[in-house]
Amino acid sequence: MTNPHYIDGRWVEGQGNDCITVHDPALGQPFAELMSASTAQVDQAVAAARRALPAWKATAPGERAALLRGFAEQLGQRREALITLQMRNNGKPRHEAEIDLDDAVATFGYYADLAEQLPGKNAEVPLAAPGFTARTRLEPVGVVGLIVPWNFPLVTSAWKLAPALAAGCTVVLKPSEVTPLIEQAYGQIAEALNLPAGVLNIVNGKAETGAALSSHNGLDKLSFTGSNGVGSQVMRAAAAQCRPVTLELGGKSAIVVFDDCDVDQAVEWIVAGITWNAGQMCSATSRLLVQDGIADALLPRLKAALEQMQVGNPLVEDVAMGPLTSQAQWLKVASYFAIAREEGLHCLTGGQVLDRDGWFVSPTVYVDVPEGSRLWNEEIFGPVLCARRFATEAQAIAQANDSRFGLVATVCSADLERAERVADALEVGHVWINSVQAVFVETSWGGTKGSGIGRELGPWGLSAYQSVKHVTRCLG
Ligand code: NAD
Repeated sequence: MTNPHYIDGRWVEGQGNDCITVHDPALGQPFAELMSASTAQVDQAVAAARRALPAWKATAPGERAALLRGFAEQLGQRREALITLQMRNNGKPRHEAEIDLDDAVATFGYYADLAEQLPGKNAEVPLAAPGFTARTRLEPVGVVGLIVPWNFPLVTSAWKLAPALAAGCTVVLKPSEVTPLIEQAYGQIAEALNLPAGVLNIVNGKAETGAALSSHNGLDKLSFTGSNGVGSQVMRAAAAQCRPVTLELGGKSAIVVFDDCDVDQAVEWIVAGITWNAGQMCSATSRLLVQDGIADALLPRLKAALEQMQVGNPLVEDVAMGPLTSQAQWLKVASYFAIAREEGLHCLTGGQVLDRDGWFVSPTVYVDVPEGSRLWNEEIFGPVLCARRFATEAQAIAQANDSRFGLVATVCSADLERAERVADALEVGHVWINSVQAVFVETSWGGTKGSGIGRELGPWGLSAYQSVKHVTRCLG
């Protein structure tokens, strides 16, 4: 690919040091190459965003809303190509690639609506004190850097781009080097819609390009989604300049199954929570807490369901689970299988890489995993479930909360009062009751504890790109 970076309204070749190879993980074969953006090109992108800011933030919110609706429409026009690219580059089964596309479309539509409501938010503030008036202005934060991972490229970028543009910010987006082709669509759409040059810039690259962006002194804010290790580096770079940062990081989330559940339904939820996107979800419910009264009936059915699951190449088969997206991720998951063997964990099913081309592993469950196990505590980011039993509601809550992460949880119970009570007690950003991984653009996304800082989606996702100003006037 010759001109993979979109800077100041033009597609340009990469002048960085890294050659990025894009792979089809189902074959383990490369299918595209591009050169990264250099530090100087990151400078150019930030400078372009800064030049574009005054005019963009002065546009009427309704004008920005129309452009965001344009993004939604244009994504729809590219639907089949983007679904196929996600299947090929991420290894996503078709129905999951479709859900991602629909999510991105809904996100642009939602923030178009919120942009239209902005004038009404700039309202008079009723004051108790006489002699003064005050009014609110919600202003764009400014130029924002957006750094995203590879597991949901269309979606994660939409969750940042749409609210940032709606707020009136200009942006520099750095997609993951694992999936750099997918977000090219956002640059192509910006071009097709005649978005003013510099409002949306895309620089591709690895850590060097990401670090050049996250430490750039021309940014007003950085929003990062990715691992805790890199998130901490990004936070240090922001701290050096006392700059705000939103961090969406990892998870080790619980699915709590009480013994009043329908066993087959519970198995379906557990399987979905650990095998969608081959378990490569920050929100994977990778810790199963199952109540004593149902565990003996549930675990054999869970084993059978996972062993019957069709794992394969999404492009040639009607599969339920594809490969891991990168060789690095495949090796990481394999390393956890080795750790499990060293720790002497009891493997109910799986626990191995598949002996075929591509980066496949078998869906895996370890049972009666001790609290101190690395597999119980660390984010693996693959289809690897660790199970423990519990007797009481209090034990389930304590075990679920005993984590350095706090992203999501699922609670399964026929007793809705209990489910709501448990949901309230869980130290996470989002709880699903009797459902799994259902994400709606109107609700928030983000975690407590080590899972991040700030929230995306909903009105909170827009606030992340807004600065609150008040103008107070003395009437006397
Ligand atoms: P990663 O942290 O390795 O990479 C994320 C992004 O940071 C990539 O674009 C990468 O190129 C860039 N990067 C790498 N080094 C950098 C540096 N030194 N400075 C700046 N940028 C740098 O993460 P990943 O492997 O791409 O994604 C998996 C992780 O993302 C998991 O931990 C997962 O839980 C997390 N994630 C979180 C959410 C959420 O909403 N909380 C969503 C998706 C993924």
